[in-house]
Amino acid sequence: MTFPAKGFAALNATSPLVPFEFERRALEPTDVKIEILYSGICHSDIHQARSEWGPALYPMVPGHEIIGRVSAVGTNVTKFKIGDIAGVGCLVDSCRSCASCGEGLENYCEKGMIGTYNCADPKRGGLNQGGYSDIIVVEERFVVKVPENLDIKGAAPLLCAGITMFSPLRHWKAAPGMTVGIVGLGGLGHMGVKLAHAMGCKVVMVTTSPEKGADAVKLGADAVVVSKDQSAMAAAAGTMDLIINTIPVTHDVNPYINLLKRDATMVVVGAINPVEAVNTGAMIMGRKRIAGSVIGGLPETQEMLDFCGQHGIVSEVEVIGVNQINEAYERTIKSDVRYRFVIDMSTL
Ligand code: NAP
Ligand code: ZN
Ligand code: ZN
Repeated sequence: MTFPAKGFAALNATSPLVPFEFERRALEPTDVKIEILYSGICHSDIHQARSEWGPALYPMVPGHEIIGRVSAVGTNVTKFKIGDIAGVGCLVDSCRSCASCGEGLENYCEKGMIGTYNCADPKRGGLNQGGYSDIIVVEERFVVKVPENLDIKGAAPLLCAGITMFSPLRHWKAAPGMTVGIVGLGGLGHMGVKLAHAMGCKVVMVTTSPEKGADAVKLGADAVVVSKDQSAMAAAAGTMDLIINTIPVTHDVNPYINLLKRDATMVVVGAINPVEAVNTGAMIMGRKRIAGSVIGGLPETQEMLDFCGQHGIVSEVEVIGVNQINEAYERTIKSDVRYRFVIDMSTL
């Protein structure tokens, strides 16, 4: 028997999100049913709801920073029991047979990961729907355990913002002695500051917003560089071992490449659209690299949550009701978010 569900959905690329009723699939043997408590608003929700990444699939219930309580488990579920606090991120399935899936990098599945929303369900038909809703049914392999000491509101954004920063920090071996630049102090950026700080790095916040500087320091930044201040950018040139760039729009990456040391890498996680022309001369002369990274696989997402549990790391959140979703979208676009909107799903 399917489960009737309520949520907030985008019906097209231009209208505000509206209340929406739909069905969640019946519980299969390895499925977990979750009553959603909090759901974060990621800038990727906005890009997709507005078809900024190409034509999207509507109706669309966005939301891939999902925290809730397990309310039912299938007959073969081993990892979860009723009452557990569980999380769901950006993907709910993958092929499970390619090399990436075999290495627990389901986010890089060679057949394409199956998204939590804005994605057809290849096994059962219909569209997957995300976390701005009251319940969700997901196979246990794609559900993670949330450490009990973490505040659940602040833990929701770990499911995307947290893992999106944790994975490149780990892949590029962030460690004491390294200087890590985080570009953009939004949802992703503030998690990047906290995580890189906890990994023992020197953290430099690179921001367009001077008024966020004091917050950056409180979050764990050792220094703040205002990117519009050319003399500050010149003073910081050649100082960074790793940069994670979260700017959500097409932009000129060259000023940030100048901040890299020789052999250092800038990982672009924000702009999925092409960036402006890259000054290859500056890269050649310093053997520098530009790379990309998308969220993380399920084992690493669990590792990130456990790391956050050990270090007491959660997101700084502004909790809103469902009726404020559209306003929160506008404020996120204006970079007016301190530092993640999280929807209290009990307001649905
Ligand atoms: P967000 O909360 O809106 O933060 C983005 C920050 O970037 C802003 O707070 C602002 O920080 C800075 N910024 C905004 N516009 C800018 C501009 N025109 N020039 C320079 N800086 C600008 O967004 P988010 O949720 O962190 O997501 C950031 C991007 O990452 C989005 O594009 C999202 O789709 C993408 N994303 C990627 C992945 C992945 O796996 N690769 C995962 C999640 C999200 P300052 O005020 O400090 O300058
Ligand atoms: Zn996201
Ligand atoms: Zn695969």
